[in-house]
Amino acid sequence: MQITQSKNLFEKAKNFIPGGVNSPVRAFRAVGGDPIFIKKADGAFIYDEDDNAYIEMINSWGPMILGHNHPMIREAVIKAMENGTSFGAPTAREVEIAELIVSMVPSVEKVRMVNSGTEATMSAIRVARGFTGRDKFIKMEGHYHGHGDSFLISAGSGAITMGNPDSPGVTKGTAKDTLLAPYNNLEAIEELVAANRNEIAALILEPVPGNMGLALPKEGYLQGLRDICNREGIVLIFDEVMTGFRLAKGGAQELFGVTPDMTTLGKIIGGGMPVGAYGGKKEIMEHVSPAGPVYQAGTLSGNPIAMAAGLTMLNYLNDHAEVYSQLNSIGEKIATGIKETVSSLGLNYTVNHLGSMYSLFFTGEEVYDFGTAKHADTALFGKYFQAMLKRGIYLAPSQFESLFLSTALTDDLIKNILDANKEALKEIH
Ligand code: PLP
Repeated sequence: MQITQSKNLFEKAKNFIPGGVNSPVRAFRAVGGDPIFIKKADGAFIYDEDDNAYIEMINSWGPMILGHNHPMIREAVIKAMENGTSFGAPTAREVEIAELIVSMVPSVEKVRMVNSGTEATMSAIRVARGFTGRDKFIKMEGHYHGHGDSFLISAGSGAITMGNPDSPGVTKGTAKDTLLAPYNNLEAIEELVAANRNEIAALILEPVPGNMGLALPKEGYLQGLRDICNREGIVLIFDEVMTGFRLAKGGAQELFGVTPDMTTLGKIIGGGMPVGAYGGKKEIMEHVSPAGPVYQAGTLSGNPIAMAAGLTMLNYLNDHAEVYSQLNSIGEKIATGIKETVSSLGLNYTVNHLGSMYSLFFTGEEVYDFGTAKHADTALFGKYFQAMLKRGIYLAPSQFESLFLSTALTDDLIKNILDANKEALKEIH
C-alpha cells in the first residue's frame, strides 16, 4: 500500500490548519502515523488520495448508516440544489422533517433544527435552565456532548484521546455549574442531587455512551435516572447524537423503553449533511424563542439541502424496519467473530457491542464507565489500528470511540474484516 499523497497533503495542511486537521482525532495522534486524506467514498468503501480502498467501520462517525454516497440521498441533494442553496426562511421541508422526527422519537413533541450535535446539546442545556430557573447540570465522566464550554469537563471522544478532557479556555465560572458523575452509578447521582437540591436544571448523558468506547447501561440504570429526575424536577436529556436512528428508529430511548424529557440528535439526521436537532416535551420546547424567552437561532438552520438529505434518510429508515434487523445481524457477526478470535488466540480482551456499534477494548476487565475504559492499553490499540489499516480496514483512530457499521457490509466484506482482525491481532502479539 503506497501512501504518498496523504503524507504530502498533511505536511502542507499543518502550515495552514492547526494540527493539519479540522477535527482533532482525524490527525491520528493517538495511533501514530499520518492521517490518510480521503478523496471519495462509495458504499462500504472509502478511498484515499493514493486510490487505496478501505472498508469503512466509522462511516463519517455515524451518519452514513446506509453506506456512502447512497444514490437516493445523492439524488435528493442534487434535486434540492436546483432550487438554490440557502434561503434563511421557513420551508415546507422543515415542517415535514419536524413532523417525521416527532413521529419517530418517543420523547420529542416539538423539535428545533440546528447545524451540529454541539449546537443541539448547548441549546438543550440552555432551554432546560430557562425552563427550571436553575443553573447546574449533571454530566457523566467520559461522555462527550460536543465542544460547548460547559461540556469540556471530563469529556470523552477526542478530548480524552488528545489528553485534554478538561479543556483550557473553559472558565472556572462555567465549570462550576457542571456537576460530574460516574456513568452506571445511581448512588453517585443520589449524592449529587442531595448536595445540590433544587439547583440542578438537567441531567444529560449518552444513554449508550460511544465516546469512551462503547459501554452499555446496567439493567435498570436508565429507568433509575428517570425516577430520580421525576422526583427532583430535573430535566432528563438523552444525547442521542450517536444512537438516534441507529440503535432503533426511535433511538436508545425506544430500545430501552425509557423516555427522557429532551433529546439531542445529530449525525444520521442529516444523511451526511451538517444537521443537528433538539426536541422534547411541548411544555419545555415552548420556552424556545420565539414561542418563549430562551434565545437560540441560526443563519443556516433548516438549510434546504441539508433538510433534503436528512428527510430522505429518515423517511427511508421509517419505512424500512428491516434496516435495523440487518444492522443488528451485521454487528452480531462482527462482534461474535472478534470475540471468537480473541479467545482462540488465548487473549483476554473485552468486546462491547450493541446493534451496529461496538468497541474492542485492550483490557480484560469489564468496561462499564470512564474509569474502566481508561484501563485499556492505548499503545496496543494504536498498533492494532495500524495493522488493520494496512490490511485495508478503516477503524476509528482512538480506543475511546465506538465503531459505526453500515448496511453496505456484505458477508464477503465481513469475512475480510474478521480475517484482517485475526491477522492484526497475531501481528501485534
Ligand atoms: N453528542 C454526542 C453523543 C456526540 O457523539 C457528538 C459528536 O460526536 C456530539 C454530541 C457533537 O456533535 P457534532 O460533532 O456534530 O457537533
